[in-house]
Amino acid sequence: MRKPFVAGNWKMNTDSSSSVELAEGIASDATEIASAKATVAVFPPFVYLQSVTKALGTSSVGVGAQDVYFEPDGAFTGEISTSMLKDIGCTYCLCGHSERRHVIGETDELINKKLAAAITGGLLPILCVGELLAEREASKTNDVVTRQLENGLAGLSEAKLSAVTIAYEPVWAIGTGLTATPQQAQEVHEFIRKLLAKMYSGELAEGIRIQYGGSVKPDNAAELMAQPDIDGLLVGGASLKADGFLAIIQGAI
Ligand code: PEP
Repeated sequence: MRKPFVAGNWKMNTDSSSSVELAEGIASDATEIASAKATVAVFPPFVYLQSVTKALGTSSVGVGAQDVYFEPDGAFTGEISTSMLKDIGCTYCLCGHSERRHVIGETDELINKKLAAAITGGLLPILCVGELLAEREASKTNDVVTRQLENGLAGLSEAKLSAVTIAYEPVWAIGTGLTATPQQAQEVHEFIRKLLAKMYSGELAEGIRIQYGGSVKPDNAAELMAQPDIDGLLVGGASLKADGFLAIIQGAI
């Protein structure tokens, strides 16, 4: 039985006071009750990670970074290492979010190095994969996620994969208000699980959590989560309001 995993990606939003206010709202009693049945984490901007961690206090809501660099230290201006993230209490990190792939220009090879470094450094990474609209329209969805998974997970042993969550996020559904239908999402999730069974083992594929992301809202969370291969939700815009995020968590459990 895979425990649902709901994550809120705040992207480049909030400021020093609204990030704390949002974290305090999320660390409510209601979230605590929900967190018993689900893994819940938030991904604030780097500069607010410490204040958000403090604001979450003893709640069971985890904190993650939206990115990480693969080198341990040194002359890498602007980058943040896994040990820095661990040092300030981060548990998770995103790797290969579509905005980093398609806006910043990250390659599968770079994402693979970040993922490997995150695991070695003791973080629990979420590897994001998903196709562009043109790729879906050209029936290339399975080819794209296969390439992203094979290259993104290259060189990682089955034991290391126990730290990883996969997020299927069709790029055309991110921040657009267009959500994949539960059937469209389920088809790709099932494909990913079968691919992981081929790449690793049936046991690994059965245990790994695959989140869906792309315009998830309180009113579509439950029907997405009702699909057999959807184990959680990666939420962008709708995670910026505590009550909306909580409603999504409730829909997921
Ligand atoms: C995301 O940032 O991963 C995301 C899915 O964003 P949104 O929910 O706003 O589409």
